[in-house]
Amino acid sequence: MGGTDPAVVIAGGGIAGLCLALTCEQIGVPALVLESAAELRPLGVGINLQPNAVRELIDLGLEDELRTIGVETEEYGFYTKFGDEIWVEPRGRFAGYAWPQFSVHRGELQMLLYRAACRRLGSNRILTGRRVTGYENHDDHIEAVAADGDRVPGAVLIGADGLHSAIRAQIVPGEGAPNWGGAILWRGATMAEPFRGGASMALIGHATQRFVTYPISPTDPRTGQALVNWIAELSFDPSSGWNREDWNRRASADDFLDAFTEWRFGWIDVPDLVLATDEIFEYPMVDRDPLERWRDGRATLMGDAAHIMYPVGSNGASQAVVDGRKLGRAFLDHGVTIAALEAYEAELRPATGAMVLQNRGRGPDYVMDLVEQRSGGLFDDIHDVVSHEELADHAAKYKGVAGFSIDELNASPPVIPPGARL
Ligand SMILES: Cc1cc2nc3c(=O)[nH]c(=O)nc-3n(C[C@H](O)[C@H](O)[C@H](O)COP(=O)(O)OP(=O)(O)OC[C@H]3O[C@@H](n4cnc5c(N)ncnc54)[C@H](O)[C@@H]3O)c2cc1C
Repeated sequence: MGGTDPAVVIAGGGIAGLCLALTCEQIGVPALVLESAAELRPLGVGINLQPNAVRELIDLGLEDELRTIGVETEEYGFYTKFGDEIWVEPRGRFAGYAWPQFSVHRGELQMLLYRAACRRLGSNRILTGRRVTGYENHDDHIEAVAADGDRVPGAVLIGADGLHSAIRAQIVPGEGAPNWGGAILWRGATMAEPFRGGASMALIGHATQRFVTYPISPTDPRTGQALVNWIAELSFDPSSGWNREDWNRRASADDFLDAFTEWRFGWIDVPDLVLATDEIFEYPMVDRDPLERWRDGRATLMGDAAHIMYPVGSNGASQAVVDGRKLGRAFLDHGVTIAALEAYEAELRPATGAMVLQNRGRGPDYVMDLVEQRSGGLFDDIHDVVSHEELADHAAKYKGVAGFSIDELNASPPVIPPGARL
């Protein structure tokens, strides 16, 4: 259906869907977003944008705005349950990437993308209060079916509708609930004095008890405080069951803080940080098995709908951005066609499937477990427990799987060549 307008119908106005919409606008492809929320609000807490994703946001002309909502991450470190250093490495431009890494508030990033999309595509192209329940394929077009029964035609339909994707449920009937391996995350963000210079990410503990924290705003020079994001993680017997996964479920510090009362390390005080937080959210760490296919006729998937993974490698949101750009590139190369959906899937489905599996066992934080198993966190010199080479090898290997190895990314041409239009 060559003249279909909009050509690309996108179910979901999260990070993935909005990046795709902005990319379509950049390359001259008409797009329409159908978002279920009645109104977009800045929900969630902190996330990280890796240099591969930041590069794409810069290519979308969003660098200045990005700098207003986040902090450029300088270092990333693993620490034992006693607060001792295992491995610290520079990040983003400090590690030699041509682009920065940013720690940002997830909701602020979504709002930034939403404002840009409304400005550039027109707010009549980014519709809220429109839940998509499924689709119907036809020879030359596809119809997104909305909850109110309305049918929206397009040349293709992209399911960017997140963890409980309705589009995925139709492509892969009977898949059921996501997998829960037993870990619960409690998340929050609060104004606090940041640690280690104010642009550092810290992962403390081991597989069954962890605390991850990083600032998501610059330090205010007047107060010496920044908005500091934190995630406390504990593991339980997965057969015991837990609350259904919901990014916005409220929780209380009483649910988990007992396990962290001793975690006061001088450079960071975990109980103080948690107790200073107004709103705490609970989330069971879930993922889904990699799929054999993403496409059904003129429908395909992107972002969490395609490859929800454990949030251990800071790449859920980054991959959502990259998916949108790669799909745009496929449209440039093949038009808004089934061939484009096939090319996109051939490139990204195997790679993101590998990330899902990697994050289950040997994400970048695997070395924390290694140190706990070998020493119980007690050592005089970390290199008596694990060699520098072993630590460096593991860090490099993960970056390769996650698509952000330094040399490869720096040498790669832009996904969307400047000025390219369909
Ligand atoms: C409210 C919320 C809070 C989050 N908080 C965090 C966080 O604190 N930390 C973290 O690491 N990750 C968080 N995430 C997940 C994170 O945003 C994603 O892992 C990542 O950004 C990939 O984005 P996505 O666009 O694929 O999915 P999402 O960000 O989940 O976006 C999916 C979008 O689709 C919409 N949608 C869902 N179903 C339908 C439907 N049937 N029809 C139309 N639209 C639909 C949703 O309202 C949402 O706007 C959160 C997600 C949400 C929705």
